[in-house]
Amino acid sequence: MAFKPANNIQDLQYFGEFGGVNPSISDSSTYTFLSAKTMFDTFEGNADGCYLYSRHSSPSNLYLGEALAAMEGTETATVTASGMGAITAVLLQLCGASEHVVSSRTIYGGTYAFLKNFTPRMGIETSFVDITKLDAVEAAITPKTKVLFCESVSNPLLEVADIRGLAALAKKHNLKLVVDNTFSPLSISPIKLGADIVVHSLTKFINGSSDTVGGVICGNQELIDDLRNVNDGAAMLLGSTMDSLRSASVLKNLRTLHIRMQQHSYNAAYLADKFEKDGLKTVYPGLRSHPSHKLFKSMMNDKYGYGGMLTIDVGSLDKANSLMELMQERNLGYLAVSLGFYKTLFSAPGSSTSSEIPEDEQVEMGLSDGLIRFSIGLDADIERTYQMMNACMVELGILEATMA
Ligand SMILES: *Cc1c(COP(=O)(O)O)cnc(C)c1O
Repeated sequence: MAFKPANNIQDLQYFGEFGGVNPSISDSSTYTFLSAKTMFDTFEGNADGCYLYSRHSSPSNLYLGEALAAMEGTETATVTASGMGAITAVLLQLCGASEHVVSSRTIYGGTYAFLKNFTPRMGIETSFVDITKLDAVEAAITPKTKVLFCESVSNPLLEVADIRGLAALAKKHNLKLVVDNTFSPLSISPIKLGADIVVHSLTKFINGSSDTVGGVICGNQELIDDLRNVNDGAAMLLGSTMDSLRSASVLKNLRTLHIRMQQHSYNAAYLADKFEKDGLKTVYPGLRSHPSHKLFKSMMNDKYGYGGMLTIDVGSLDKANSLMELMQERNLGYLAVSLGFYKTLFSAPGSSTSSEIPEDEQVEMGLSDGLIRFSIGLDADIERTYQMMNACMVELGILEATMA
């Protein structure tokens, strides 16, 4: 039977302490015990259902973690204060001095900077590879490799990882395949395709209201227990803990994710198709011209579509900047980083979210100056949006006027 991630979220049932339809929020950092012995056991992680201190866990954080584990099909999950809080914790949990990571080279700028500049200080080295070439990935694996890291749909170039193929490599070489699924929640379920661990920045589509940062690590019980171990758990000791008030609010937003993803995908597919027909260099996994269109199709959960992210290349950074300013002036979206908002967000990745990546490497991976990354919003009338965006492009000489 097909995996139904949205059903798994919907089927969860939590009530508040007075029968509220939403679970009560645990507004406490510390918890009392009737017995001193239970306090000791709880500290050691051996007293199920008891809480000690909210950096360790809190009821609200556990509710959200469970819902996200249900979405990804893992045994359990732990939420973190940001996506980077999840990524850094999981990588440091799995790798130590003299160990090695094989990572996609087209990843979120912060993750890239962490692996490139920060983890070498701890003796962890990373090889960055073209994730779409399985032979290149395998060639980079050494006896010291512990982790294979990728994004299911990469930021910002929208390359698609062959998760089944990567999972087979991970299995063969006894590595953990960690997939950042931030760009494709619900659309792609990496665990079902063989991944070991899924991380998300909740900041983006999952929360969807651009009011907070947040993250999650979804995995098996053993991994999550390790991350939360009071003696050597990275999530526990690095302290990237989400606040309970926030996790309660993210949980409420998660319940509409399936509806939002369908609308993001519908709108993005509409615009991508129009932009491509207008002759713009357009990248969207839902377009047949996308090199990994078929691969995405073979991995996706039908109905959530190909996601809300697309890029166009308008030729130069100047043109990209003028277009983004004009679109913002006409209220077609905001010139802002991040993604998953109800409004369309656009930015030029080379000079913003991927600026951690040195220019020569940007060129090598195909990150050009004129690239604009769009996170397409929930616009009720996407045809009107298209007409108005097209008018901006004609006005700036990016497109020639057509006889519409
Ligand atoms: C935003 C983002 C992150 C980092 O998440 P934060 O919540 O900003 O820490 C990681 N990976 C991807 C793909 C992202 O888009």
